[in-house]
Amino acid sequence: PLGHIVIVGAGFAGLTAAKYLREWSAGNIKVTIIEPNPQFISCPQSNLVLGGSRTLDDLSFSYALSRKQHDLQWIQDSVTAIDLANKQVTLARGKLHYDRLILAPGVDFDYSRIPGMASPVADIPHAWKAGKQTLQLRQQLEGMPDGGVFVMTIPKAPYRCPPGPYERACQVAHYFKQHKPRSKVIILDSNADITSKKGLFLQSFQGDYQGIIDYHNNSEILQLDIASKTIKTDFETVQASVLNVIPPQLAGKVAQAAGLANVDQHWCEVDFVTYASTLDSHVHVIGDSISAGLPKSAHMATSQAKICAAAIIAVQSGRPPNPLPVFANTCYSFVDDRQAMHVANVYRYDPVKKTMATAEGGGVSTKASVQEGDYAQAWAQNIWADTLT
Ligand code: FAD
Repeated sequence: PLGHIVIVGAGFAGLTAAKYLREWSAGNIKVTIIEPNPQFISCPQSNLVLGGSRTLDDLSFSYALSRKQHDLQWIQDSVTAIDLANKQVTLARGKLHYDRLILAPGVDFDYSRIPGMASPVADIPHAWKAGKQTLQLRQQLEGMPDGGVFVMTIPKAPYRCPPGPYERACQVAHYFKQHKPRSKVIILDSNADITSKKGLFLQSFQGDYQGIIDYHNNSEILQLDIASKTIKTDFETVQASVLNVIPPQLAGKVAQAAGLANVDQHWCEVDFVTYASTLDSHVHVIGDSISAGLPKSAHMATSQAKICAAAIIAVQSGRPPNPLPVFANTCYSFVDDRQAMHVANVYRYDPVKKTMATAEGGGVSTKASVQEGDYAQAWAQNIWADTLT
């Protein structure tokens, strides 16, 4: 009786929204979720597959429990277009009407901004969506001779998971230190600086991984030669044995196609009380596709999903949504197989600036530790359980 909500994407954001729409409406909202992938694969901890302490199986989960438990209508397909005027989405198999739409398609990659690599190249994986490419990159590292060079390029922010590339560098260095001690990790960061856990990552780069990790800031790709895996920047030319280009990012393709990526044509602007798009009050956008100073993390995506679900239930019931949402974000990074470190913050809605603002408090670890590695594992198990059951 409270309407039909269609959700595009069963990642961290979409699946969490589906669960809480059903739970908090006591089953009074019909939820249809559209997702092409047969199973859920977690990006969090996927860098540890590169380091060798996790397998992709450890991070792969069935959608079956969630579907059954919350009685979700499930369509395994992709949305190719959205008809905003008629409130319909187009799938390969036909059209579907919605009362409200939640878009949670994650990020898409913009190859047009990589000089020399205008489209994906089969043996240069990004591995920035966990899955086949994560395994491919691990196999490339395993196949690389000792003394080889792993080069990773980092796109201009904002991109999915701000500390993710630096965690990846540590994981690859951890593998090299054990199995290929003469090998090197070169990070070409197009940003001026490390924006997340900088001091902590530098401790690792200059401590455990001294002589292995070589970090270069302000190093945008000026030219990339695919055949020789050579990259030219303002300062140098480097040749990779294994090349990992993390492409520049923008909102999921379906959000762009619907014209909802209204910030620099890259990200979707939303009202942070309901997560409604500023272009269409019946389309809500959550997760990595939104524009905000908020880090693009799984923890954020699930927090936004809960606020969005509660707001939709309120509005569909004729009540005002909570005017002052608040949530937390904790992000752990593993520096080896056991030690991790964190950054944590609380965010409160600022009604004057109409955005989520970092509240006082919060903080970062003083150093990476095994104890925090245990906390990081517990964090992952909790977010998987919350999202997938
Ligand atoms: P996703 O989880 O990517 O889900 C989007 C879903 O939408 C996908 O399943 C996709 O198939 C589907 N979809 C896309 N287009 C369509 C369409 N047209 N029709 C139907 N379905 C569609 N975050 C943390 O909090 N902690 C971490 O430790 C952490 N580590 C990370 C490490 C790495 C290496 C990476 C890459 C990311 C990491 N993240 C981490 C970030 C986290 O993975 C993302 O922020 C999170 O996945 C965002 O959730 P989302 O639901 O917006 O997108």
